[in-house]
Amino acid sequence: HEMTPVDIRQLTEDTVVLIKQKTQAKKVSVQWDTESEHQMLMHTDPFQVRQVLINLLENAVDAVDTNGQIRLALYRKDQSVCLEVRDNGSGITPENMKQIFDPFFTTKPNVAENESGTGLGLFVVHKIITGLSGSIHVESEPGQGTTFKICLPEWQSD
Ligand code: ADP
Ligand code: MG
Repeated sequence: HEMTPVDIRQLTEDTVVLIKQKTQAKKVSVQWDTESEHQMLMHTDPFQVRQVLINLLENAVDAVDTNGQIRLALYRKDQSVCLEVRDNGSGITPENMKQIFDPFFTTKPNVAENESGTGLGLFVVHKIITGLSGSIHVESEPGQGTTFKICLPEWQSD
């Protein structure tokens, strides 16, 4: 795996296109928060980060009702670039919160024809982010929604 300068906004937009079938089927909107505009570069592996984004976005789509909303925010923090993926879906109970990163933990046992019921998505996300020297945080309010925040090292030019 190769560490390169990664335009995280562009990579996120490409990933949103990749899961368009899933978002469109549920009429879910995906929008950037106001000032997430200018280009920010991460020092990371784009292939692994794309996998992280797919897993987080798919979970967000699963969590919301028809016409649900996913909001994206991007900002710099210290020597890192952080991306927030926020949904207005079901939220996560405090009890489930303790287990969401465990392998095979899932609350989606009935989506048989859909590969997202394996309980491996967040396990993989956590593993990748840790391996890339990043951090991950989650905040959730049952009935209101959930925010996942990932931070990865900023690309240092020179
Ligand atoms: P899977 O999606 O296959 O169930 P994941 O590891 O991706 O497995 O997620 C584990 C569990 O964490 C999900 O089953 C769900 O209960 C919870 N979860 C993850 N993301 C969200 C979210 N955005 N909103 C609500 N619950 C979530
Ligand atoms: Mg998942």
